[in-house]
Amino acid sequence: MVVHRCGFEAAPGGSTMTEETMWLDGAWCAASDGATSDVLNPATGETIATVPRATLDDVERCVQSSRAALNAPEWKAMDPAQRGRILNKMAAVTYQNAKALAKLESENNGKTFREALSEIRYGAWTLEYYAGLSDKIEGSTIPVPGPRLNYTLRQPLGVTVHIVPWNFPLQLALRSIAPALAAGCTVIAKPASWTPLSLLAWARAIDDADVGLPSGVLQVLTGSGAMAGDALAGHSGVDGVVLTGGVPTGQAVMAKASENLTPVTLELGGKGANIVFADANLKYAAKAICFGIFMNAGQMCWAGSRLLVHRDVHDALVEAVCAEVSKWPVGPGLEEGVRMGSLVHERHRSEVLGKLEAGLKQGGTVVLGGHALERDGAFMEATVVTGVGQDDLLFQDELFGPVLAVTPFETEEEALALANNTPFGLLNGVWTNDLSRAHRMARDLECGMVSINEYPITFPQTAFTGWKHSGIGVEQSQDALRFYTKVKNVNVKL
Ligand code: NAD
Repeated sequence: MVVHRCGFEAAPGGSTMTEETMWLDGAWCAASDGATSDVLNPATGETIATVPRATLDDVERCVQSSRAALNAPEWKAMDPAQRGRILNKMAAVTYQNAKALAKLESENNGKTFREALSEIRYGAWTLEYYAGLSDKIEGSTIPVPGPRLNYTLRQPLGVTVHIVPWNFPLQLALRSIAPALAAGCTVIAKPASWTPLSLLAWARAIDDADVGLPSGVLQVLTGSGAMAGDALAGHSGVDGVVLTGGVPTGQAVMAKASENLTPVTLELGGKGANIVFADANLKYAAKAICFGIFMNAGQMCWAGSRLLVHRDVHDALVEAVCAEVSKWPVGPGLEEGVRMGSLVHERHRSEVLGKLEAGLKQGGTVVLGGHALERDGAFMEATVVTGVGQDDLLFQDELFGPVLAVTPFETEEEALALANNTPFGLLNGVWTNDLSRAHRMARDLECGMVSINEYPITFPQTAFTGWKHSGIGVEQSQDALRFYTKVKNVNVKL
């Protein structure tokens, strides 16, 4: 008998290996040629499941099913408030299964159970938030000359593809699935090859709960980025592509989508800075700085991977940060009390350690950590490097691991120039009790999000958006809904 970890029949965390299927055209199925990929638990290195590796035929079938569902009256003519009720039911299913999903997420990604649980509840909250907006997507009436009525309609964008990364596998999928469904689009979600299990399990729970989604409106296709992701991004039957991923992937997806002039939302990398002035509450800042770079083992687009600190408080703050994170137990994410789990994959840990080594050749002093942990699994020490210069790799490159680069400054102008001196512009944090300085910095930082005296923080109702190489477009908030609707102007001669 085949057990499905993603159907929760097999208790996640056991050593059973499961064979999963994907959700295409309303059915759970294997790839058309039967090909599969292995899925690992990075804390043990064990293979825990296989998932289908979608073929080009599967992609074709998926897009056709999505188009048919978009045009079927069950979805196209559904009362927008009913879409909201369905989203609320999806949120309820997510909350009900949050612990089981979090266990699976931790097992597949390496993150701690506590981190996974808060992310999945955040995903459920996102579904609720957009449930309330589904019947508030309004057009406008426009005063034009003469005896005319002129108005706009905002209609669903159409078939949307959601390409998801491995660092917050389920939460980032729900972040864009929710507004797409609220707006009346259909959804094809493709998880990252390393971490497909939570999205598959969530989709099964939604399917089992029979929330009222017509067949084909939501599909989950598993497969490689280079083949399935690429084919979806370049498909002429797709009306919009949402990618969360690295900058090179964003460039590839945008190039592919441009063949059909398909609009894209890209949420890409980051090199966030916490900018700490001498008047800041250092004790509180130290805790938040640790949270901002060591949570999820630093594998976060919005990680505060740079610490820019006023020279007067440099030594005290570095000491406080090191003391704080030294209290964090590192180990398997499902183990009680663990604060930092495994990195997502041994290959990714090698990349992080390789970049750290290359960066240190340019300068900097390791004052904490710096190594892989000597045990099974892709574990790495929380690492703090001081004396990092602004042209160094550790200041400029996204390591996507638990590595904090520290750079001192003397003046506000210098702090601002340092903060803005990267290709990225996602989230930056400002730590000061001087109100005017806080708002000056917020105004002049070149990034999509600024947080003052707190880091990192976001809500479903606030924009998650990057400037420069951090992306194009907006996730979360009412602004995200614009992407999922097309504007039509109607003129009536009276
Ligand atoms: P990645 O770019 O390797 O993969 C992301 C997704 O894209 C995966 O599903 C992958 O299969 C797919 N993909 C890869 N190549 C593709 C191609 N040519 N065409 C279509 N799809 C393709 O990213 P990752 O390693 O999974 O995640 C880490 C990156 O994601 C980091 O750079 C991080 O900063 C970024 N990220 C950004 C945000 C944000 O909101 N800004 C959030 C999380 C992660």
